[in-house]
Amino acid sequence: MTKYVFVTGGVTSSLGKGIVSASLAKLLQEHGFKVSIQKFDPYINVDPGTLNPYEHGECYVTDDGAETDLDLGHYERFLNSPTSQANNVTTGRIYQTVINKERAGDYLGKTVQVIPHITDEIKRRMTLLGETAYDIIITELGGTVGDIESLPYLEALRQLRMELGNRNSVSIHLTLIPYLSAAQELKTKPTQHSVKELLQAGIQPDILVCRTEKPITSDIRAKLALFCNVGKNCVIEAMDASSIYDVPLLMQEEKLDIRVLEKLGLKSKKKPELKKWKVFLDHLKNPKRSVRIGLIGKYNELPDAYKSIYESFVHSGAANNTKVHVVAVHSEDLEDKKSFSKELKNLDGLLIAPGFGERGIQGKINAVQYARESKIPFFGICLGMQCASVEFARNVLKIKDASSTEVNPGTKNPVIDMMAEQKSIKSKGGTMRLGAYPCMLKENTLVHKAYGRKSISERHRHRYEFNNKYIKQFEKEGMKISGINPDRNLVEIIELNDHPWFVGVQFHPELKSTVEKPHPLFVDFVKACVQNKK
Ligand code: GLN
Repeated sequence: MTKYVFVTGGVTSSLGKGIVSASLAKLLQEHGFKVSIQKFDPYINVDPGTLNPYEHGECYVTDDGAETDLDLGHYERFLNSPTSQANNVTTGRIYQTVINKERAGDYLGKTVQVIPHITDEIKRRMTLLGETAYDIIITELGGTVGDIESLPYLEALRQLRMELGNRNSVSIHLTLIPYLSAAQELKTKPTQHSVKELLQAGIQPDILVCRTEKPITSDIRAKLALFCNVGKNCVIEAMDASSIYDVPLLMQEEKLDIRVLEKLGLKSKKKPELKKWKVFLDHLKNPKRSVRIGLIGKYNELPDAYKSIYESFVHSGAANNTKVHVVAVHSEDLEDKKSFSKELKNLDGLLIAPGFGERGIQGKINAVQYARESKIPFFGICLGMQCASVEFARNVLKIKDASSTEVNPGTKNPVIDMMAEQKSIKSKGGTMRLGAYPCMLKENTLVHKAYGRKSISERHRHRYEFNNKYIKQFEKEGMKISGINPDRNLVEIIELNDHPWFVGVQFHPELKSTVEKPHPLFVDFVKACVQNKK
């Protein structure tokens, strides 16, 4: 029977529920269990696909084409196993299902209500993954206890814990222990209030995970245990860490994994050694060299908008024994043709980020030209690959009005054009080319060498594509088409012949980089940047 761990958050948002959940999942996986994590988000968007990155950070895409919360990226990076549509559910999705059922007449004339209909649907979704082959499912509830929009989730959780019965579920509450410097004291009151709020919803937490800047003393543990009805050894300290990848080891030191297994009545199947993880951390913390890589994007004010790219550099840097300093460069600062190269000085490589819309495009195109002409390693992802194609058409093929129809719908030379099946689509939610598609690599190419195989699968999220009308001209002037989707003959990868490392990909490699399997293209790109620096 599948066992369940529920993680709620109290006091403030941004305490790192996703990282704590992923860290616990990693430890339980190391104990020999099959573990998955899912996230329930209390907002009304059906999924985060239509959200501006400034609102909610990056939209993470799964193999099966779900547009999801960026926490799913952490789950995959920590667990090294893919998530799916079922791993992220929003209030919008829950209501949509219930309302569709109501319209179909499935409720047989009954009044449809939050309790039991919405809560039943939440419970059904909470246990959906458990019906597949997992030993333990960790469910992270988004939002903070006390929010109006979280109430149906807490009610569903209360009911579900009853139904699951003793020792089949654990409730973990992640909370903040603030330090008041004037009083030189850590304060437990906000946590006491937060637990009270949970108790009002009928949920007694079994374990408290306490975010803190300073170590929590034995006295504080005792006080929290007394006021919050938990065992003293179930007060877990979660000190601020220098890297999110330290958190599994910190949680292991605090025995979070042991407490959870005890509460679930499970016996560890093997000693968690985290061997690969520790090698990775060692490389991460003791790099032999460093490189500076420019990340050209337009959402730089919010690094979460490029979360997976930053993390991919952490993984691939460690794989190269190299500290990667990612220098965020605003594409709009690169629009002035005369001064833009100043912004790019002292960078060992350039990555052009994915994106949508016209803003910042010329700056990205200028950056491509700079990387191409100065022979600096260049990596273009999705929109970045599309900008590289437009730049090449304009400046090498001398097609001056070459453009993407996303930017200039009336262009006579649409080097990047809307995909045929996209043209009739009006609705914005979940309608892009989404999820994993196969790609065949040409031999004797940079990418074939980097992957070490011919057939790959990568995740997509776009509406526009390379226009095959221009393939011949591109190849004639030295831009190789090195990856093709075999089913529909779509150009997925371009690379420059006469250049140390110049690759543009239509897919999102950053979504598949994990601690244990850093993405081969990122690893090779960082390697090229190291060589370029020499
Ligand atoms: N806006 C481009 C498209 O839709 C690129 C998308 C992206 O970078 N993810 O094709």
